[in-house]
Amino acid sequence: MITFPIVLSAPSGAGKTTIYKRLMAERRDIGYSVSCTTRPPRPGEVDGVDYHFLTSAEFERRRAAVEFAEFAQVHDHAYGTLRSEVQKVLSGGQHVIMDIDVQGAAQFARAFPQSVLIFIIPPSIEVLVERLNRRGSESRDALLTRLRNAQTELHEIGRYHYVVENDALEPAVARVSAIIDAEMTRRERAPKLDEQVAGLIARLEHEISNYV
Ligand code: ADP
Ligand code: 5GP
Repeated sequence: MITFPIVLSAPSGAGKTTIYKRLMAERRDIGYSVSCTTRPPRPGEVDGVDYHFLTSAEFERRRAAVEFAEFAQVHDHAYGTLRSEVQKVLSGGQHVIMDIDVQGAAQFARAFPQSVLIFIIPPSIEVLVERLNRRGSESRDALLTRLRNAQTELHEIGRYHYVVENDALEPAVARVSAIIDAEMTRRERAPKLDEQVAGLIARLEHEISNYV
């Protein structure tokens, strides 16, 4: 199967975690790249499942060892994608989906140019704030940082191939799923296409010669 990395970015609270979790529940051809972070776990988050929660020293050791395909400082903490996680999922025959901020997405696309970059936007800022408040995972200061960062992130939307609005969840998930299906049929991704088409053309010549 043709597999590739799928990068989801969005202002915090727009719904990328919810969307990728739903996609993975619906499709068996998608695996997740567990990122590393120095931020402390939120209630319910599990080490090795939601993130690899690292000390700053361990994060720095991995960065120096060039273990990250990309890394960035986001909302006061370091985040990074391990090359080994990405390779593991791709070589296991699945697309690898990841949740990366806009700085990291640009670096990642240089490391893995076959990636599909999808930006998730909220239907409005009122809805974004309401979702962040409802999630209840941030202090007032952390929430303000996320809203300030959202401005910067929205300025970078031009780097992305697709934009999906996350208003109602089901249609947003269906749209991301449709993008993945469409990307699988991209001509540039078809393996041995030249050989396949040459075979079809040769066969046509043979067929035509039967009629003339
Ligand atoms: P992100 O990963 O982009 O920071 P989350 O996936 O954590 O965002 O979503 C933020 C909050 O909004 C969560 O409480 C989630 O349940 C909720 N949410 C996500 N998508 C929708 C949606 N389409 N409609 C209503 N609530 C949503
Ligand atoms: P959160 O702390 O809310 O889980 O994530 C905060 C931000 O960090 C989000 O914008 C998310 O996309 C980003 N993020 C999560 N993992 C990574 C990663 O591996 N690399 C980069 N660059 N950003 C990440």
